[in-house]
Amino acid sequence: MIGSCPICNNTQAKVHAAYRHSHASFAGLNRAHCDACGMVFASPMPAEAALKDYNTSYFSSAHDGLANNASTVAFFSGLSRLRIAHIERYLEIHHIDVSSVFELGPGSGVFARNWLEKHPKTKYAASETDHSCHPYLHQLGVNVVDNSVEFKPPATDLIVMSHVLEHVTNPIKFLSDATQCLRKGGALFIEVPCRDYEHKSQDEPHLLFFDKEPMQGLLGQLGFNNISLSYHGVRLNRLRSPFFLHAKWMALRSKLIRFGIVRPFARRYPGMEILNDPSERAMIAPFQAHTESDTPAWWLRALATK
Ligand SMILES: [Zn+2]
Repeated sequence: MIGSCPICNNTQAKVHAAYRHSHASFAGLNRAHCDACGMVFASPMPAEAALKDYNTSYFSSAHDGLANNASTVAFFSGLSRLRIAHIERYLEIHHIDVSSVFELGPGSGVFARNWLEKHPKTKYAASETDHSCHPYLHQLGVNVVDNSVEFKPPATDLIVMSHVLEHVTNPIKFLSDATQCLRKGGALFIEVPCRDYEHKSQDEPHLLFFDKEPMQGLLGQLGFNNISLSYHGVRLNRLRSPFFLHAKWMALRSKLIRFGIVRPFARRYPGMEILNDPSERAMIAPFQAHTESDTPAWWLRALATK
């Protein structure tokens, strides 16, 4: 049996394929498509207990441990600077002052580090289910809280959730609970992969596969305003091509960068104006995180106000 659509509650969603996984927590699922709102989702959703176990060791389960080599750090750092610049443009247009940030799922805190470097006076709090990340966050001066217990007073100016929402079983309840602490007029930033089942060989660990329409539906029904949705990175039609990131060239390129030969790859393309570190530009370039696209692309970003 297919559960109803987690966004629009349509009960007529159809199974398109078996859910591709390797971890036992994701066994026996299908990938269902909702024709009413365009949402694609795992069905049935995995049991909460199994998911909780998986997420408490997320970075060792899904990412082979926290990023620690210099090129990976440069990639994530560049990516988070571009996200920050994107958010700041929105805050400026809507005249939103931010003195407090609450981030869900910050991992080891790359976004927090770059935000605090730019805005050192911000009161920064975060909730992270993977406890192995907590020492990194404490080092940055981030107040690590349990979102289910603390942070109920609506006082936060900006909520950030980057690559979190695609992992939850009930996005309406999750987002509604998570934004309780957002003040009226404050901003919400979400980034998720866009329909990534189309270009990846596994569906795990994602449960929700967003595009603009279901994201609009989700934010709209929760009463958010000034919703702005955009695609970033390499376009889906190119990601689906078997020649994308031709493996041999990418391996050679990465090797050269690791050996310190960065400059030839560090051209400052339009959209990279804020990236001053050549390694960050070199690592970002093949993924085009500095470009916004009219057609569906790797990442979907949403900004909205409460
Ligand atoms: Zn739907």
